[in-house]
Amino acid sequence: MQEVLKTLGIQEVNFGTSTGVEFFGNTSQNLIESYSPVDGKLIGKVSTTTKEEYEQVMELAQEAFKTWRLVPAPQRGEIVRQYGEALRKYKDELGRLVSYEMGKSLQEGWGEVQEMIDICDFAVGLSRQLYGLSMHSERPSHRMYEQWHPMGVVGIISAFNFPVAVWSWNAMIAMVCGNVCVWKGSEKTPLCGVACQNILAEVLKANDLPEGISAIVTGNYEVGEWISTDARIPLVSATGSTRMGKIVAQKVAGRLGRYLLELGGNNAMIVTPSADLDVTLVGSVFGAVGTCGQRCTSTRRLIIHESVYSDFVQKLANAYGQLRIGDPLDQNNHVGPLIDKDAVAMYNNAIAEAKKSGGKVLVEGGVLEGEGYESGCYVKPCVIEVESQLDIVKHETFAPILYVMKYSTLDEAIALQNDVPQGLSSAMMTTNLRDSEQFLSVAGSDCGIANVNIGTSGAEIGGAFGGEKETGGGRESGSDSWKAYMRRQTNTINYSTELPLAQGIKFDF
Ligand code: NAD
Repeated sequence: MQEVLKTLGIQEVNFGTSTGVEFFGNTSQNLIESYSPVDGKLIGKVSTTTKEEYEQVMELAQEAFKTWRLVPAPQRGEIVRQYGEALRKYKDELGRLVSYEMGKSLQEGWGEVQEMIDICDFAVGLSRQLYGLSMHSERPSHRMYEQWHPMGVVGIISAFNFPVAVWSWNAMIAMVCGNVCVWKGSEKTPLCGVACQNILAEVLKANDLPEGISAIVTGNYEVGEWISTDARIPLVSATGSTRMGKIVAQKVAGRLGRYLLELGGNNAMIVTPSADLDVTLVGSVFGAVGTCGQRCTSTRRLIIHESVYSDFVQKLANAYGQLRIGDPLDQNNHVGPLIDKDAVAMYNNAIAEAKKSGGKVLVEGGVLEGEGYESGCYVKPCVIEVESQLDIVKHETFAPILYVMKYSTLDEAIALQNDVPQGLSSAMMTTNLRDSEQFLSVAGSDCGIANVNIGTSGAEIGGAFGGEKETGGGRESGSDSWKAYMRRQTNTINYSTELPLAQGIKFDF
C-alpha cells in the first residue's frame, strides 16, 4: 500500500489539507486517523480543515470562478477530458486505495474509478450540449430564448461508501457547466479525497489553471455545516444518510439556497411466478451482499411470490453458503468488511431487533473472528424471513441483511415494495409483460430507479441517478441532471422601433 500511496502523491503519514492551491502544512492539531477496515491498520492521518483555512478555500474558489466561468464550455470539457485520461493512468492505484480504505472488493474499487472515467467522458460530450430552448415571442420583432449560466461555488458533501465516484458525478458535471467546487468527503475515507485532488491538481497545473476550480476540505459534520450555512455557496449537493439530508436541507433552505440530496434507500426486488430464478439469484445475492450491503442501492428486501417462495429461498440459502468473506483485495473473496465497528454494532442491533419482532433467521449472521478478521469489521451476510414489514424492515440498515417475504397478488407486492419511507431503487424479476408494465406504470414502483430483470444495485452513469421520498428527490449524473448545476436565464430582445407590451397592455403618454 505504501507504493500505491506514493504514486497517488500521498507520501507522508501526516499531511495537510488541500485548500485549492497547495497543501497547507499540518497547521491543524486535529488529525483524522484513517484506519483500514480490511486489516485494522492505520493508513494515514489527514489534518482537519480549520475555519481559517475554510475561509481561504472559499476565497480561492470565488476567485477561480471568475476565471473559470469565462472559459468556453468545450474548453472546460477539454480539462475534464484530461482528468479522465489521468484517471486512466492512476486507475489501478486509486482503485486499490478505495478498496483498502473503504473495504469494497478490488473489482468494485476499480469499477468506481471506471465510473469516474465514464462520467468524465459524458461531461466532455455535455460540454458541447448545454442547450437552451428558443421560444416564439408573442410580440413582433422580438426574440425570446433561454440560456444556462453557471451558479458559482458548488458545495459537495459525500458519503464513505462511494468515496471517489459520487464526487466525480457532481464535480465533472458542475465543472463543465462552469462552476467551481468545494468538496467535503467522508471523514471515514479522507485519503481517497486527497488522492482525487492530487490527480486533478496535476491536470489544472499543467493547464495553468487555479486549483481553486475544485478544492477539498476535510473534517466531520461541522465542516459540512460550514458549507450548508454558507450563503456564498448557491448549490449544496449532499450524499449520505436521510438524517444528514434533513439537517442539510433545513440549513440550505433557511438561506434560500438550492440543494440536491442523494440519501438512503430501502430497495426491494419483486420475484414474480414467471421469473428466471437463475438470473434472479445472481441479481439478488450481488445486490444484497455486494459492497457488504453498503450501497445506497443494495437489495434489502425480497418480495417473492408464494408459488416460487420455497424453491427460491432454498437456492438463496445454498448460494449464501458458498460466499467467501475476507480481504477484499483478494479477488477470490465475494464479501469484504463493513466500514467500522459502529457499522458492526448497527448490524448486530438490527438482527436482534428483527428477531425480537418475530423475524425468522434463514441464514445466520454473526461477526467473524480469528485470522484475517482482526479488524473486527467482517460479518456474515444473513437472510431473515418476515411475515409483514416490521419497523426494522422499513429502516435502512447499512449492512448485508436481507429480509424476505411472501406475496400472493401483484397489487400486494407493489404495495409492499412502496410501503417504506425511502424511494431509491427497485426491481422486478419477470418474463411476463403485463407484470413488468404494471410495475413500471404510474401505479407501480414509486422509486427513482425501477429495473426489470436486473437487480436494484449498480447504475450506469448515463441515466439520472436518485430517488424519491426520504431519498431526497435529487438527480445526479446522466440525462439532463446538469440543469441542477446551472441557473436558467430567460432573455427577450426587441429589435423593432416600438415597445409593444406583453398581453396587449397599452401604456401611452
Ligand atoms: P452520513 O450521513 O453519516 O455522512 C455523509 C456525509 O455527510 C459525510 O461527509 C458527513 O461528514 C456529512 N455530514 C454528516 N452530518 C452532517 C451535517 N449535519 N451537516 C453537513 N454534513 C454532514 O452517511 P454515511 O454513513 O457516510 O453514508 C451512508 C449513507 O449514505 C446511507 O444512508 C446511504 O444510503 C447513503 N448514500 C446515498 C447515495 C445516493 O446516491 N442516494 C449514495 C451513497 C450513499
